[in-house]
Amino acid sequence: MEATRIQLDASDIPTHWYNIVPDLPAPPAPPLGADGRPATPAQMGAIFPGAILEQEMSAARWIEIPQEVREIYRLWRPSPLVRAVRLEQALGTPAKIFFKYEGVSPAGSHKPNSAVPQAYYNKLAGIKRLTTETGAGQWGSSIAFAGQMFGLEVRVYMVKVSYDQKPYRRLMMQTWGAEVHASPSPLTETGRKLLAEDSDNEGSLGIAISEAVEEAAGRADTNYTLGSVLNHVVLHQSIIGLEAKKQFDKIGLYPDIVIGPCGGGSSFAGIAFPFLADRAAGDAHAQNLRCIAVEPASCPSLTRGQYAYDFGDASGFTPLMKMYTLGHDFMPPGIHAGGLRYHGDSPLVSQLLHHGLIEATAVQQLATFEAGVQFARTEGIIPAPESCHAIRQAVDEALACKVSGEPKTILFNLTGHGHFDMSSFERYFSGKLENYAYPAEAIAASLAHLPRVG
Ligand SMILES: *Cc1c(COP(=O)(O)O)cnc(C)c1O
Repeated sequence: MEATRIQLDASDIPTHWYNIVPDLPAPPAPPLGADGRPATPAQMGAIFPGAILEQEMSAARWIEIPQEVREIYRLWRPSPLVRAVRLEQALGTPAKIFFKYEGVSPAGSHKPNSAVPQAYYNKLAGIKRLTTETGAGQWGSSIAFAGQMFGLEVRVYMVKVSYDQKPYRRLMMQTWGAEVHASPSPLTETGRKLLAEDSDNEGSLGIAISEAVEEAAGRADTNYTLGSVLNHVVLHQSIIGLEAKKQFDKIGLYPDIVIGPCGGGSSFAGIAFPFLADRAAGDAHAQNLRCIAVEPASCPSLTRGQYAYDFGDASGFTPLMKMYTLGHDFMPPGIHAGGLRYHGDSPLVSQLLHHGLIEATAVQQLATFEAGVQFARTEGIIPAPESCHAIRQAVDEALACKVSGEPKTILFNLTGHGHFDMSSFERYFSGKLENYAYPAEAIAASLAHLPRVG
């Protein structure tokens, strides 16, 4: 029998992360301060350690992974690459479908790939406490775990709707020693102001970011950590695609299509960028490669947003970044793929889309759960609702192969398991989930508040 699970040895964990910046067609647009001038490292230094800032601005193609980080990666890496043979059979497709399974990490998703190095570099810089925001609880639990690995205190601002809907993620964070608060909270200026306006405010990732940044900016012993969007997070996540390339090498295959769910874009970048490196280097295998970022129709930043400078958070604390955005005060509805509810997107992913080097598509909620359930019933793994977006697209591409008769090789990022999202599946099974496309007028209204620069 042909192997369906392609394993690597611990010694195969990559020694360097891949940075796509030197392979871009143009240098990235710099982050700007509120005055419209390029943000200085000093401005950002209030909330990030030097090593992270260096990575954020780096144009080096390869950046060494510290030994201490690789040792923690070994707890779950290399992650498996699996051929979804039973799903292929159920679909009757000639396509070969592979998934890279990131749900094997302690927190159950790809997010510890960046949480661990972020905690490490902060520890090295003498920082004692970390703040962060979390939506679905995935990033918060990852940084809670990573902080514990390096003896750092962690305070998490958790989007209120998730805090109420996901008590188990909150308990995971507490088990790893973190302090968790519903956001908006009374602990910050931002939170107090919003609660005074509306005590039932459900929160959003943007608001929670504002709270975590405000606290980190106000305390010298405290830094902020972000689970997606920024260049250094994208860099750390490249470990996913770098491993996948080694795994494909081992079986003598190369993907035609690489698919990932896309919230802030880090895991999509993580799986896709190392393959795009091959295309940039002129590698013959990679010339027809398609990379597809899949987002929810209810939060369609890449497919319906504007490529413009905007704040990373709701109240304008962060530098301005050039990205596809729905406007920083865009308030996404309480959909069940909480990790995909963000108004913007990684500037690097945005730039590649702007240059036509990757594709983006938006899918409806019900169709993603349908694909996720089919996946669970064929491959056994219960996927996170975010990951179901990639599964939907992979299934659709495989069905297109059935029509065209082409035996394409499809790779998707199974970014996490759904063990803490069973209430979302419950709502799906009981018919309570609905499709939702964000109304064009509402998008236009929040885009009207984009900061004016240049
Ligand atoms: C956070 C999360 C995502 C989306 O975040 P990106 O930064 O776009 O990768 C996708 N899947 C899972 C399971 C997540 O936890």
